[in-house]
Amino acid sequence: MAGMRAVTDAVVVGSGPNGLAAAVTLARAGLEVTVFEAEETVGGGARTLELGLAPGVEHDICSAVHPLALASPFFAEFDLAARGVDLRVPDVAYAQPMADGPAGIAYRSLGRTAAELGPDGAAWFGLFGPLVENAPMLTELALGDRRSLPAGLLTPTGLGAAVAAASRLFEQGTRAWSARFQGEVAPALFTGVAAHSITTLPSLAGAGTAIMLATLAHASGWPIPVGGSGAIVAALRADLEAHGGRIRTGHPIRAWRELPRARAYLFDTTPATLLEIWGERMAPGVRAALGRFRYGDAAAKVDYVLSGPVPWADPRVGQASTVHVGGTREEMAHAEDLVADGVHAATPLVLFSDPTVADPGRDVAGLRPGWAYTHVPTGSTVDVTGIVTAQIERFAPGFTDVVVSSRCVPAAQMAEHNRNYLGGDIAAGAVSTWGMVARPRPTTDPFAAGIPGVYLCSASVPPGPGVHGMGGHHAARRALAQRFDLPAPSLAPDPAP
Ligand SMILES: Cc1cc2nc3c(=O)[nH]c(=O)nc-3n(C[C@H](O)[C@H](O)[C@H](O)COP(=O)(O)OP(=O)(O)OC[C@H]3O[C@@H](n4cnc5c(N)ncnc54)[C@H](O)[C@@H]3O)c2cc1C
Repeated sequence: MAGMRAVTDAVVVGSGPNGLAAAVTLARAGLEVTVFEAEETVGGGARTLELGLAPGVEHDICSAVHPLALASPFFAEFDLAARGVDLRVPDVAYAQPMADGPAGIAYRSLGRTAAELGPDGAAWFGLFGPLVENAPMLTELALGDRRSLPAGLLTPTGLGAAVAAASRLFEQGTRAWSARFQGEVAPALFTGVAAHSITTLPSLAGAGTAIMLATLAHASGWPIPVGGSGAIVAALRADLEAHGGRIRTGHPIRAWRELPRARAYLFDTTPATLLEIWGERMAPGVRAALGRFRYGDAAAKVDYVLSGPVPWADPRVGQASTVHVGGTREEMAHAEDLVADGVHAATPLVLFSDPTVADPGRDVAGLRPGWAYTHVPTGSTVDVTGIVTAQIERFAPGFTDVVVSSRCVPAAQMAEHNRNYLGGDIAAGAVSTWGMVARPRPTTDPFAAGIPGVYLCSASVPPGPGVHGMGGHHAARRALAQRFDLPAPSLAPDPAP
């Protein structure tokens, strides 16, 4: 690529949801934008592809369920629905099957969820009621840039919501976490969501993750896009290309010299990749701080082809967008502790989704994709198919009978299809308290890479992992202001000609 040093406005490296959100924001402001993507396919952690396991059956390679896309201010303004992306919200957001009785079911309706939680119904209602009432402000806080405050925060209502969230964070993030509950189901229902953080539990990072995602479950729901996550990528790509943006796939960038000259460079990559590319030109302090960036524990993926729905012992579980298969609060916390200690749990937490529940079109000639992953120590090379299948079978006797075929991507191989997932760290950085407040380094401008015009815009910057596009959008807005003196553009769909 030595001959490529022409001048352009902006270059984005990486075409995950954050990279594309950055590119769209810049292109909509009228800039010339080129995206370089290492893989042959666009979309990073939001790709939907056939894997050759069954003709026509498409699998979500990484993300499948999208509470954050539905809540994201970027996607709200971009207006996925107007662009034909159908985010279907099932009545059941997530479910927690239990070995010895009825499952915990998180309905879209907080009241119904509480009603079916028996003796802990009031406790669940008390935990989430004030948060659901203030969901828009809490969402703005959670998906913000960690450096500015939501407009409504410094009002009596806003401060009340912040106090409610903080008190619940400290309750569920510490050893006091079971004090409000009597039974096993409600605490397990909470813990399954907290474990998305892939960290020891209880912890503030886990509680923060659960509070945000569970509040969204009751406020707006956990949707599944019709056609898979790739539908979101297709909408972003179409808008980018309609505004003159170009995407070059099959172009891994390894050094700054490979890039065309541009006034702004945005990296939808890990800090490690940024260091590899720009390290020699970075201020030493920034280089050292990014070198200390901590990566997290890992996930190993199992994609199934199933001949029908999963035969969950509690049939209500079969209506959920996501199933947290891990048993009781204590079992899941123990499994996450083992992972943090570098040990594979025999009965780990498995996250499972059957997208056909919301999108019947995913069933092709009686065969449907099954999406699962489990938590493992970083860099694990273990094929987890047997462990994951056995864990699901525990709560769905007969599951093995509906498995037609499967494939595993061990944690160590995750980076082969997405170099942001080092060692299988699908959050592109540890989800610790410090990691969520100060990622990627303690500074007033977390998007700045320490070289004028170079920005980090991936899940490694605020607000962190998930398909919300906000890291890319925040970074692009800074680039527009700092490099081009331009305001944030409208992202709304173009009016019909
Ligand atoms: C198994 C799994 C399940 C998940 N489930 C969910 C879910 O259900 N819901 C949810 O919201 N999130 C989920 N996530 C997380 C979500 O996918 C990510 O947080 C999100 O995709 C991050 O977006 P991003 O744009 O920052 O990076 P990514 O989506 O990871 O994209 C980064 C892109 O940059 C490219 N790239 C990296 N380095 C270079 C380079 N040097 N040169 C060129 N290109 C480069 C990569 O190839 C990739 O395309 C899941 C992730 C995994 C792996």
